[in-house]
Amino acid sequence: MTEPEIYDLNGKRVWVAGEHGMVGSALVRRLQREHCSLLRMPRRAIDLRDQAATSIWIKSCKPQVIFLAAARVGGIAANAAMPAQFLYDNVMIAANIIHAAHEAGVERLLFLGSTCIYPRDAAQPIREEALLTGPLEKTNEWYAIAKIAGLKLAQAYRRQYGADFISCQPTNLYGPGDNYDLDSSHVLPALLRKIHEAKQAQAGSMTVWGTGRPMREFLHVDDLADAAVFLMRHYAGEMPINVGSGQEISIAGLARLISTVVGFEGELVFDRTRPDGTARKLANSSRLNALGWKSARSLEDGVRQTYTDWLATMPSDERSNAARTE
Ligand code: GDP
Repeated sequence: MTEPEIYDLNGKRVWVAGEHGMVGSALVRRLQREHCSLLRMPRRAIDLRDQAATSIWIKSCKPQVIFLAAARVGGIAANAAMPAQFLYDNVMIAANIIHAAHEAGVERLLFLGSTCIYPRDAAQPIREEALLTGPLEKTNEWYAIAKIAGLKLAQAYRRQYGADFISCQPTNLYGPGDNYDLDSSHVLPALLRKIHEAKQAQAGSMTVWGTGRPMREFLHVDDLADAAVFLMRHYAGEMPINVGSGQEISIAGLARLISTVVGFEGELVFDRTRPDGTARKLANSSRLNALGWKSARSLEDGVRQTYTDWLATMPSDERSNAARTE
C-alpha cells in the first residue's frame, strides 16, 4: 500500500542542486517525466561553497522545490587523500543551500545524504535510529560528518522554522555518469573499468583492493532518483529515510559478477595492502518500503545496463573491441 500523496509536483518550479553529477543528472532525467518546471544552472556557473552567490541564485530563480544532490564525492582513496575538501566543501554546500532555501521560502527540500553516516559497528541491516549511536568508519568520516551536518540542518530548520525539509540516505550508488577515474572512484565503476581493460589486454589476472570480504549493497542511481521523487511527494518528517535495494554482495562476488558481464575469465587477485573499509553496510529500507516504494531492478541487470551505458561513452574503436567480446 502506498501512503497518500502529500505534495503535488505539478507546475512547481524545481531546482536540482548538483544537476551535472551522477545523482543530479539522474534526478533531472526522472523529473523530466513530471509536469514541473525544471530550473537549470549552467555547469560551474555558481560555486555552491560561496554563501552570497548561492543565496543570490536561489532568491533570483525562486524554486519552490529543491533536491539537494550537490556534493564532493569519491571512494575510499579520495576520502583519505582529501579530508579537508570532503569536509569543508560538503558542509558549505549543505549549509548555504539549506539556509538560503529557508530565507527564500522554498516549500520543500530533500537533502541527499549517504549510508556512510552510520556508526561502523551499527547492527545490520542498519535502521535510521542507529545514527550517532557510535564511532564512524575512519576511512570516510570526513564525508560522513558533513552529511550528518546536512541532515541535521534539514531537521533543525524543520524544528525551529517549520521548513518542510526532509533527508534521505542512499546506499552505494552506481549507473550512468559515474566516476571511472581509478584514484577517486567507488568500487563498482573501478572494477567495471579494471575488468574491461584486463579483458581487452587479454590479461591473465586483475587486481581487486582489499580482501574481497567486505559486503556492500548497491542501488542503481535511476532507482534512487525515483525514490527521491517518491519521498518528495509522500513524506514529511524529521527522520531521514534510508534508500536501499536490499541487494547485498561481497566485493569478491561483485568482481565475479562484473567478470561475467564483461566476459573476463582471468584470475582475481586480492591486494591486501589496500584497505577494506567498513565490513558491512546494508541499509534497512523498511520505512521507505512501508511508505510504498521498493527497488525492482536486479544488480545483474543494473550492472549490464551500466556497462552498456559506459561503453557508449567511449571512442568507437575501444567500444567495438569490447563489444566483440560480449
Ligand atoms: P566504501 O564503500 O566507502 O568503502 O568505498 P569504495 O566503494 O571505494 O570501496 C568499497 C570496497 O571495495 C572497499 O573494501 C575497497 O577496498 C574495495 N575495492 C576493491 N577494489 C577496488 C577498487 O578498484 N576501487 C575502489 N574504490 N574500491 C575497491
